[in-house]
Amino acid sequence: MIPKDHPRYRSLVARERIARCAREGVVALEGLAAHGRGEAFDYLIGEKTTESAALAARTAAAMLLSARHAVISVNGNTAALAAAEIAALQRASGADVEVNLFHRTEERIERINRLLTGNGVRVLRGTPERLVPLSHDRALCLPEGIGDADVVLVPLEDGDRCAALREMGKAVITVDLNPLSRTARTATLTIIDEVTRAIPAITAACASLAAGEAERLVASLDNTYLLRAAIDEMRERLAHALE
Ligand code: ATP
Ligand code: MG
Repeated sequence: MIPKDHPRYRSLVARERIARCAREGVVALEGLAAHGRGEAFDYLIGEKTTESAALAARTAAAMLLSARHAVISVNGNTAALAAAEIAALQRASGADVEVNLFHRTEERIERINRLLTGNGVRVLRGTPERLVPLSHDRALCLPEGIGDADVVLVPLEDGDRCAALREMGKAVITVDLNPLSRTARTATLTIIDEVTRAIPAITAACASLAAGEAERLVASLDNTYLLRAAIDEMRERLAHALE
């Protein structure tokens, strides 16, 4: 049992969960390393949703709600950490959910499908095809899912898959704590926040966008501004860290 009054309580709970999911074959071992990189950046933003991340989450809601076909692409880490949060976002946005893995095996896809379904997600199923311009199995996606989407939300994505989705002409929304990653810099919109805070923020925004606000948010989207704001936040915290 992790003591509730531990100062790193949320982080320890997340670690326990992601380690358990790795033992169960939901999370790839490489996913543990990716999580650690994310944690380091979370420290630097103060483990809270910054103002610019809140704006990004609101803009993400606007993009999902105004899409012709929005799809949420879920990998092992996202399923392990945020299955229930994905279910709530699916209800609020009407987006399809597709499981898509960097380290892809049919067994892992099945395990993740089960975890998501058990948390109330309606998972899109079908026969994947090599539609994403990448070599090997990383090209696989569902023609009626990501293949058809105009807007894709891909939390914790790898840089070259993000770039390949952009090459396909899709608007890509990502959640990534590292503002320097290739994913963060390649996406149409980057939410620099921890996935279990970012997804509920998008869900809440879906329910509270005012008339005309979605159009305004999408029209004024400036991802470079959002990346700079996150870096400024980190720089500011580092400058005053020992005061
Ligand atoms: P890139 O390929 O985009 O240059 P990378 O190779 O450093 O990035 P990947 O392992 O491909 O990183 O993707 C994982 C990304 O997800 C990392 O940038 C990490 O910061 C981020 N990340 C990991 N865990 C979380 C989390 N819980 N919430 C938000 N972001 C996270
Ligand atoms: Mg990568």
